Amino acid sequence: MAYDDDNVFARILRGEIPCKKVYEDEQVLAFHDINPQAPTHVLVVPKGKYVSMDDFTAKASDAEIAGLFRAIGRIARDFGAEKTGYRILANSGAHAHQEVAHLHVHIFAGRPLGPMLVRR
Ligand code: 5GP
Repeated sequence: MAYDDDNVFARILRGEIPCKKVYEDEQVLAFHDINPQAPTHVLVVPKGKYVSMDDFTAKASDAEIAGLFRAIGRIARDFGAEKTGYRILANSGAHAHQEVAHLHVHIFAGRPLGPMLVRR
């Protein structure tokens, strides 16, 4: 899938849409999800134009990949989430129900999060 410059996270990265920022560095921007599913629900977005985790892991530099994961750990610690535990999630593609086609990693924390997937 080609990257769409008008996706909502591209617009947030360009400052065209506001967000509640929690962290920013050279590689990533992180902000609160607009529709939180847990007391802490942060989205960590690489600044590069990557559609999905598949796209990112195929094309991003080692520095971008390290930067994303360092940022995730740092943000989780900033919220104290490492004390009681947290979940990270990156939906990639149709079966995972990815809604925004710019890679983002969810950080959920602040309550017991239940089973990983809906049980069938
Ligand atoms: P996905 O299903 O693609 O993994 O998750 C997309 C997430 O982006 C959803 O949790 C949704 O609430 C969030 N989201 C969609 N539009 C916006 C927005 O304009 N601002 C923020 N902060 N989050 C958004």
